[in-house]
Amino acid sequence: MRVIVAGGGIGGLTSALCLHRLGHEVIVLEAADVIRPLGVGINLLPHAGEILADLGLLSALEAGAMATRELVYFNRHGQRIWSEPRGRYAGHATPQLSLHRGHLQLGLLRAVRAQLGDSKVVTAHRVTQVDQGASGVRVTAEWPDGSTAEVEGDLLIAADGIHSRIRAQFYPDEGPPAYSGRVLWRGISYSRPFLTGASMIMAGHQNQKFVCYPIGPVRADGFQPINWIAELPVPQMLQREDWNRPGVLDDFLPRFERWTFDWLDVPALIRSADAVFEFPMVDRDPLPGWTHGRVTLLGDAAHPMYPVGSNGASQAILDADALGRALSREASPEAALAAYEGHRLAATAAIVGANRGNGPEQCMQLAEERAPQGFGRVEEVFAAGELEAISKSYQVLTGLQRPDALDR
Ligand SMILES: Cc1cc2nc3c(=O)[nH]c(=O)nc-3n(C[C@H](O)[C@H](O)[C@H](O)COP(=O)(O)OP(=O)(O)OC[C@H]3O[C@@H](n4cnc5c(N)ncnc54)[C@H](O)[C@@H]3O)c2cc1C
Repeated sequence: MRVIVAGGGIGGLTSALCLHRLGHEVIVLEAADVIRPLGVGINLLPHAGEILADLGLLSALEAGAMATRELVYFNRHGQRIWSEPRGRYAGHATPQLSLHRGHLQLGLLRAVRAQLGDSKVVTAHRVTQVDQGASGVRVTAEWPDGSTAEVEGDLLIAADGIHSRIRAQFYPDEGPPAYSGRVLWRGISYSRPFLTGASMIMAGHQNQKFVCYPIGPVRADGFQPINWIAELPVPQMLQREDWNRPGVLDDFLPRFERWTFDWLDVPALIRSADAVFEFPMVDRDPLPGWTHGRVTLLGDAAHPMYPVGSNGASQAILDADALGRALSREASPEAALAAYEGHRLAATAAIVGANRGNGPEQCMQLAEERAPQGFGRVEEVFAAGELEAISKSYQVLTGLQRPDALDR
């Protein structure tokens, strides 16, 4: 089959590789003129890493990334609530990789170009519409000068991100993403390693949170790239979400000025970033369906979710793998798209819902509610087994663990 993929992001490029491997002809239409290494840090969880390992990409990505050793939650006083090993340190076959989004996207892009051919990634083609007949799809793409081109194929996979035009075509009344009332400021700072040098930390609670983790090895000067995210409530969303919008330190740094812990100096880390980006935390309600005949949605186009639990990129990669498996199993393309949706829609809708309730980060919120001034021992705040149960139920929900895995 000839499959058209709208969007050359993480989900679209992984789909292209999965479908090409099955012998399909794939063409990726990307809106940007040039695919640049945009964004800051992102995480690849072990189940998504296994899919990239299978595609032969993991070792190249691992070089230049950080294999995260542990995830540690703290309260706003810098006191440790819970920690758990991650990736290979937790017994998975593949690591949890923390890396620059550009490293991941360009790694996928290089593989697509090498395996499918340069001409199969067509930039400056913004997909605006799809029409379909009994045996195929006709996709309209807009060039930067406003003129249009039409591309024909057997299937369209819409991996065109949170502002998906194809999703809007099928759900014209849906409107913009739903604002959570919270804004994220994101940056990368070069700093000396903290804790194990491979630790991901989250501190605070749902109304004031700081997350950071290294995304690359320590350089010769002893510094390491550390991705961070500061989160605060902002009742009214002032500007529409744009991954590349610059942020202003004065809008959030004063609130973190006193977060100097003996294991991390948060204000110093924030100050040392070269650039700061601002992004309102948004998601969308789960849809009743992704598939319309020979067209389906994938990744953020299908299930944008709060960036809780490091799931955005990983779930898009799981989608791509599930789509490939369904296409190789089912007799007709329509049946395959329906099977893919059957496998993935409810699973990702559950994560959207769990992330609205803070996902595994609810342990920080509970600590704040139960012990706002901090605690002597964490056991005074949580019942025996409570923290393990929070962690485990989210890992099972997101497909990272078998239900019995933490019982071993
Ligand atoms: C510029 C950018 C920076 C980001 N930075 C971060 C970050 O720092 N940390 C993080 O956790 N997540 C970031 N994300 C989001 C993250 O990549 C996704 O949540 C996740 O990887 C799911 O991937 P996706 O492929 O579904 O969507 P995306 O990665 O958003 O990819 C969608 C792709 O589709 C393209 N596109 C959009 N509309 C059209 C159209 N109409 N026709 C054709 N192509 C179209 C976009 O240019 C993009 O390349 C960023 C996304 C973008 C686009």
